[in-house]
Amino acid sequence: AKSLGKARYAIFDKDMQDQSLKRLVLERELRQAIGTEQIFMAYQPIVTVAEGDVVGFEALVRWKHPEMGVVRPDHFIHVAEETGLIVPLGRWVLEESCRELMLIRQAMPGFEFTMNVNLSKRQLVQPDVVDMLVEVVENAGVDPQWIKLEITESVIMDGQAQVTVVLEEMRRRGFKLAMDDFGTGHSSLSCLHQFPIDVLKIDRSFVSSLDHHVEFAAVIQAIVTLAHTLGLTVVAEGIETMEQLAVLQALDCDSLQGYLFAKPLPLQEVLEFLSAPRSY
Ligand code: C2E
Ligand code: CA
Ligand code: CA
Ligand code: CA
Repeated sequence: AKSLGKARYAIFDKDMQDQSLKRLVLERELRQAIGTEQIFMAYQPIVTVAEGDVVGFEALVRWKHPEMGVVRPDHFIHVAEETGLIVPLGRWVLEESCRELMLIRQAMPGFEFTMNVNLSKRQLVQPDVVDMLVEVVENAGVDPQWIKLEITESVIMDGQAQVTVVLEEMRRRGFKLAMDDFGTGHSSLSCLHQFPIDVLKIDRSFVSSLDHHVEFAAVIQAIVTLAHTLGLTVVAEGIETMEQLAVLQALDCDSLQGYLFAKPLPLQEVLEFLSAPRSY
């Protein structure tokens, strides 16, 4: 029995070693990839409910690993956060999103849109985060009003006072703020008014609930109504089907994002998407 216990322990231990080895390799490779062509941005269009007009994009980072292929952010963002690599990576993400935003503006004169950029908790608590944001947009010639910073509900909600102060400072500098993944955290609707935000992004899980529970539309409607009362605009995320679209069109959401309209696209495909006629 003793040796069996030992053997089991050894297996467990080996798994743990494999895990931490994988993380170490991932961390090292990610560190080396930042600043090379392996890391690039994709932009997912955000469209109005009424006309389907593009009003913005969400900037989403991509890593094309030489052996593993395209690695999804779900697999490396948390490593970047835990190791602190998110700080240089996040700065690069903002720089690149601003640079490509300017290229879209040049290619499409008169087209007004905003660029949504994700900010992680680790970035938010950097003492110089606001200076960094201001410096990057100024260097790129980007008006901060064109940038919407997406911060998840959970980061905002368990926000120490410190987080709220930083958010207020960002807004004073002209940036717009979006609460991301609304509905996945523990927040209640009654707290919403406390936070200095401009946009509410309703999480994809709410939209997919509609597939099996159409009565869930009433929940979404209640959120939208309250958000509007507070002066927020509302984006619903993860629209995949015409059925979901039909339900959301009957609600008062302002804009929509999802594979039904477009997947996240590299810059060249964004430009093609913008010049092609569309119908949903
Ligand atoms: P998120 O901020 O909630 O971003 C939306 C995610 O939903 C994206 O996944 C997007 O591709 C996906 N999505 C959009 N429409 C649909 C749809 O109709 N159906 C489905 N199933 N998915 C849809 P992605 O690009 O894999 O990113 C995953 C997460 O990684 C993001 O979730 C965000 O938390 C994080 N992330 C991505 N890029 C960045 C970044 O540049 N900085 C930071 N800090 N986090 C990032
Ligand atoms: Ca987001
Ligand atoms: Ca989201
Ligand atoms: Ca998410």
